[in-house]
Amino acid sequence: MLIMVVVFVLLNAGALHVGGRLRAKTLACRKNLKEIGTALVDFCDMSDGTLPALERDTYIYHYYIVRRETAPSSGVYKWLHLGCLYDAGLLSDGRTFYCPVAEGATDEYLIYSNPAPWGTLPQVYNSVVGNQWVRTREGYLYWPQSTTILTSAPTGEMWPNYEQGYPTSATAVTYLDQTRAVVADIVFHQEERGKVNALFWDGSVVYQNGPTGADGTRWYFDSMQRPDGEDGWELVKLARWMYALQQ
Ligand SMILES: [Zn+2]
Repeated sequence: MLIMVVVFVLLNAGALHVGGRLRAKTLACRKNLKEIGTALVDFCDMSDGTLPALERDTYIYHYYIVRRETAPSSGVYKWLHLGCLYDAGLLSDGRTFYCPVAEGATDEYLIYSNPAPWGTLPQVYNSVVGNQWVRTREGYLYWPQSTTILTSAPTGEMWPNYEQGYPTSATAVTYLDQTRAVVADIVFHQEERGKVNALFWDGSVVYQNGPTGADGTRWYFDSMQRPDGEDGWELVKLARWMYALQQ
C-alpha cells in the first residue's frame, strides 16, 4: 500500500512537472506574441500605418522571415513578414520568432543565428531544390486579415483563387479586421487538445483550441495543393481559422 502511494505521488509529481514546463513555455510563447504585437504597432507607426508585406510568391508559407534575394554571392537579403520587425530594429532577439513549445526551435534559432544574424543561406531542408529562405519552421503564422483580402475572394472562400485572394503588398492597418487574429502558433501546444496562442490587434493573446491537424498531428497541415500541382497550401486551414476566430 505504501509503495503504491509512493508510486502514485511520484507519478503525480512527474505529471505536474511536465504540466509546469508546458505552462512556462506557453507563457514564454505568449510573451513572444505580445512583443511581436507591440513591434507590429510600432512598425505601423513608422510606416504610415502599413503592415509588413505579404508576398504572393511565398505561397502561404508566412513563417519565412528572410530570403536571399538574388545570387548567392550578392549577399542581398530581403526581409519578409515578421522578419521586417527584426530588420526595423523593433525586435532584437531572433528567438522571439520561435514558439518555445516546438521541439528544436532553439536549435533552429542557433543554426540561423550562426553566423549572425541569420546564418548562411541556403539552409537546406529541401535537399532537391535547396533553399534561400530562413523559415521559422515551428514559429508563428503571420496573417493580417484585411477587408481587402476578404472582398477579393469571389466565392466567400478565403482562397478560392490563389492569384486574387492574396495581397502582394503591405496592408494598411486601417483595413485590418480588428476582431481577427493576426499572428498565431503554427504547432499545437498540447497535441491532444490542439491548444494554440493567437495574437489580436489590440495586443491581447488568446490561448485556445486551434484548428485540428489534417492527420491528427500537431501541425495544421492540410494536404491541399495549388492548382499547378505544387504544394504550399498547408497553412490554409490555420489562416482560415485565424480569420474565423473572434475574441
Ligand atoms: Zn506557442
